[in-house]
Amino acid sequence: MALNMEDYTCEFCGGPCKNIVYASFVCDNPECLEKARVARGGPGGHMKRKAEGKPILPEDLEKAADELNGRA
Ligand SMILES: [Zn+2]
Repeated sequence: MALNMEDYTCEFCGGPCKNIVYASFVCDNPECLEKARVARGGPGGHMKRKAEGKPILPEDLEKAADELNGRA
């Protein structure tokens, strides 16, 4: 399927679509790119990890937590 970006507008400001990121049509405005990123899963993609059933804590952080709790 050929996708003509000129047929689409930015989902956030309504300007001309220049990019398709995080499954959203967005223009070149960094603010709109950021909004698309947040809408897709937020900083670090934690929501996405959670949805996949993976632990939210990175291994290094879990190790640090163990040390803090005297389990290391
Ligand atoms: Zn925009």
